[in-house]
Amino acid sequence: MDRRTVLRAGAGAGLAAGLWAPAGRATAATRKDRDWAGLKQLLGGRLYVPGDSPFAALNLPANHLYSHRLPAAIACPRTHEEVLATVEWAGRNVISVVPRSGGHSYAGYSTSDGGLLVHLGGMRDVTVKGTTLTVGAGARHLDVYAALKDTGLLLPGGRCPDVGVSGLVLGGGIGPATRSHGLTCDSLTGTTVVTGDAYTARCDENSNSELFWACRGGAGGNFGINTSFTFDLHPVRKAVAWFDLSWDGKDAAPALKRLAELIADPRHRKDLTCQFGLRTSGETRVYAQGLFFGSERTLRQLVTPLRPRRSATGTAGIWECMRRFYETAPGDPYVAGSIVAGQDLGASVVEELVDALGRWKQASPASRATVSFFAMGGADTALRAADTAYVHRDATFIVDLAAYWSDTDPTPVSEAGRQQLRALYRGLSRTLGTDAYQNFPDPDLRNWQTAYYGRNYARLQTVKKTVDPGRLFGYPQGIAPA
Ligand SMILES: Cc1cc2nc3c(=O)[nH]c(=O)nc-3n(C[C@H](O)[C@H](O)[C@H](O)COP(=O)(O)OP(=O)(O)OC[C@H]3O[C@@H](n4cnc5c(N)ncnc54)[C@H](O)[C@@H]3O)c2cc1C
Repeated sequence: MDRRTVLRAGAGAGLAAGLWAPAGRATAATRKDRDWAGLKQLLGGRLYVPGDSPFAALNLPANHLYSHRLPAAIACPRTHEEVLATVEWAGRNVISVVPRSGGHSYAGYSTSDGGLLVHLGGMRDVTVKGTTLTVGAGARHLDVYAALKDTGLLLPGGRCPDVGVSGLVLGGGIGPATRSHGLTCDSLTGTTVVTGDAYTARCDENSNSELFWACRGGAGGNFGINTSFTFDLHPVRKAVAWFDLSWDGKDAAPALKRLAELIADPRHRKDLTCQFGLRTSGETRVYAQGLFFGSERTLRQLVTPLRPRRSATGTAGIWECMRRFYETAPGDPYVAGSIVAGQDLGASVVEELVDALGRWKQASPASRATVSFFAMGGADTALRAADTAYVHRDATFIVDLAAYWSDTDPTPVSEAGRQQLRALYRGLSRTLGTDAYQNFPDPDLRNWQTAYYGRNYARLQTVKKTVDPGRLFGYPQGIAPA
């Protein structure tokens, strides 16, 4: 059986033979003997250790809760070949590898303590040919926006311009155009991966198809380093209607109930997209933003009955609309969690939520909480749960909960945020369940295997065993080999 057949069949026990020992089994002697000079040479000098001038900036993750993590070194490859050479070197020198693209993992899963951080920021190339988009491992949303701005073509992505396309697509990818055009991973047609056993796998529906399946929702950091991604783009109408609404806290409950009804309306599951939620920093605000693939006039008829306190609508090109909903990482520490709901947002959940946020105690001027709802249940349901590793095809909403504070706040402030977020999560999950979105990972989540991957987990484990049996890649909620 050749390697390609193994990947397709998902049965790879024989491949494990002859591979290096798991990185965790390195002896003190092998650690001391690591050939750092050899790796530096392979990378044309782009290898940095603590104390080198670019190290601190390259090492800083978006979530500052994890900024203390210290890898042994940071490798900065610029080509597929350099990534391959780096992974081969890491295998030989018995050190775990953590890739980083945009560095936006909620749980700091692109950080490392003592391993080799592979920073992909030098691979941000983006090319568009006809309706095909190809991006490098380090490309960010921002780069895709810039390349597609005037084309009338859409890649359904997320809200944050600095998020890496790699991390986004590997975990699914939800955003302002999910209900109309599906997840980011639904538009993926191919990807090239340097696997944990230092093999170049070119993956699509026909070759290395099990690994391709796993790269559509199986989450980053599990199988190797994806060096490029190819997507089918969606032609969109020249002008799309957008809306941006908000309410004061006292109107939160009725506003959320009316929003939930509009979003659940089967007539608008594909032409109306929406993200809404609550933000509190002493005072609560409710907001709703989204797109309507129809006329602005009809959109106004839909949103007026929601009785927002502040309301703006307009018509613009799709990328101008996406830009309106940019949400950048605050550059603060935070804890976060998520719930994938399979039911409409009922009155009791709304009341519980509004009540909990009304009682939120602000422990410092910077401390605050957000609860965001991504409306699902449109084009994202076109595929079935087993078609891609992204399993949540029956979702109605994905709820994203987070508590923030500042770098300079003392521990009691962060603890207060953490405790309150946990209480809020416990309350909501009693009604909405414990399924969770793998791109909003929560290190405290129990049974994360089921929560993130459901019945797809066992199949992901088989892929892991095939391509990274020695666990060169991994993190606390990483997929374990079968
Ligand atoms: C402000 C903000 C807004 C967000 N908005 C959205 C949103 O609208 N929709 C949504 O779906 N998600 C959203 N997210 C979540 C985001 O999609 C995930 O955090 C995603 O994993 C980040 O990707 P990254 O490349 O920036 O992160 P990284 O931290 O670099 O990587 C995330 C994971 O993927 C691995 N990885 C990175 N690159 C590669 C690669 N080339 N090959 C293999 N593994 C790799 C890392 O090791 C890590 O495990 C948001 C996050 C933030 C902080």
